[in-house]
Amino acid sequence: MKISRKVVIVGGGISGLAAVYRLKELGQKTGQPFEIVLAEATSRLGGVIESRAQDGFLLEGGPDSFISEKPAARELSDRLGIASEIIGTNNKFRRSFIYKKGKLIPIPEGYYLIAPSRISAFLMTPLLNWGTKFRVGCELFISKRKSAGDESVGGFVRRRFGETTLQEIAQPMIGGIYTADPEFLSLETTLPQFLDLERQYGSVIRGLITRKRLRLKPAAQTASGPRYSLFLSFREGMESLTRSISAQLPEVTFRMNAPVAEVWPHSGKWKIAFRHREVLEADVVCIALSAFQAAPLLSRAAPDLSRDLENVPYESVATINLAYKRSDIPHPLNGFGFVVPAITGRKIVACSFSSVKFAGRAPRDMALLRVFAGGALHREVYAMDDKALERTVLEELRHYLGIKAPPLFSSIKRYPNTMPQYRVGHLELMKTVQSKLAAFPGLYLVGNAYRGIGVPDCIKWSELTAESIAQFLEERERLPVLEVP
Ligand SMILES: Cc1cc2nc3c(=O)[nH]c(=O)nc-3n(C[C@H](O)[C@H](O)[C@H](O)COP(=O)(O)OP(=O)(O)OC[C@H]3O[C@@H](n4cnc5c(N)ncnc54)[C@H](O)[C@@H]3O)c2cc1C
Repeated sequence: MKISRKVVIVGGGISGLAAVYRLKELGQKTGQPFEIVLAEATSRLGGVIESRAQDGFLLEGGPDSFISEKPAARELSDRLGIASEIIGTNNKFRRSFIYKKGKLIPIPEGYYLIAPSRISAFLMTPLLNWGTKFRVGCELFISKRKSAGDESVGGFVRRRFGETTLQEIAQPMIGGIYTADPEFLSLETTLPQFLDLERQYGSVIRGLITRKRLRLKPAAQTASGPRYSLFLSFREGMESLTRSISAQLPEVTFRMNAPVAEVWPHSGKWKIAFRHREVLEADVVCIALSAFQAAPLLSRAAPDLSRDLENVPYESVATINLAYKRSDIPHPLNGFGFVVPAITGRKIVACSFSSVKFAGRAPRDMALLRVFAGGALHREVYAMDDKALERTVLEELRHYLGIKAPPLFSSIKRYPNTMPQYRVGHLELMKTVQSKLAAFPGLYLVGNAYRGIGVPDCIKWSELTAESIAQFLEERERLPVLEVP
């Protein structure tokens, strides 16, 4: 008897694609392929990952890079055969700036998101005054937090380094990644490394310095393979990754323009209903969507679980790519970009000097800038219409970089409700979700709401989930089949 191994994946972003690719690999390994259907609501795969060439520029709408410290994206690229397309950041300008009082000031060397690890560079920086530097130094003597349990990133930084460091450095640096309000952001799920340092060494600074001395460097630098920069991309943009996955899945059935409306268990299988009313049946359904998009699919079959998923808040962000003649930008662009503290009352979150950060993003004598706008602390900016948003961004760039000339062209991309906000208690919420999910064998959830929002986090969680799916089906196949007389 042929055993059924049908899996439906809902959502064709990197999470869905990575799950499918891992299932394909596992099927090949065991010689028992899975029958896979991937349902995607739109006409393209990749989700928020989208790279586009225009007039010799390479524009990234969503992510423009991934970090090498988390190896899942690099390892997947190896297996896809596209590792040779990976590019690192420009060696010449490995630094970024923070905006302060009309100036872009370099982030001191060795400053690791919230704390310094190179004391001399920290002492020399004009970013903070001597009073604040003294307060940061006191971190070495502040005792550890006694109570267990999650804490906000804002609370942690304020407690250890003081208010000014929180508002002028930590908030903009973290804001550039999570577009979140640090007062609500969960420390244990977003920056657990700092919690570990406090617990292990009694001080974040002492921990960073000790680890540096012991040469406990990130995996990317100690690996025997090539040494990578912290941020990586692909020669032809981030979409190389999702394009390469989808090109290597000829055996998978892609159902495009096919939004899924609902899923429910039925006689040991799963029913998957499309919005256009067709219903599929599968042994496993894996929902690779944002939590709030997954919630309505489960509202009847698993109302409790669905409500928990609705409790993960999301924020909206926009990216604005701007192409310039290099000579129209007075600033030397001697870095990868800058972040802007929300406390300054200015309008943008961050700006990348894309054509400096990565090669091949702009033709010779041209420059590409990419502004990040919106998020938890700038909702009113995201709410502007495109014209007002562009006008605001141009005014802002004039202020920071002295640019008076109009761009050659610009491109606004909006990502409504795409940035999950891991609030204090997120880990507990995820444990609850996981335990409720256990009541529904054959149902799986992947995506950026659960185990990290970055591309490598999404890939890792999807691959682990694909392995659980394979194991679930294998164990089920081993169960004795009851003969009906
Ligand atoms: C602007 C921006 C910049 C970012 N920058 C970085 C960065 O530099 N580095 C980094 O590592 N990470 C970055 N991230 C985060 C990272 O890119 C995302 O977390 C990740 O790509 C999410 O992938 P996903 O597959 O989980 O979700 P998505 O990409 O959102 O994919 C979900 C897919 O499901 C489809 N879908 C939705 N509803 C349905 C339905 N009912 N039925 C079927 N299909 C449906 C959607 O059309 C979409 O294709 C950024 C994110 C954004 C938005």
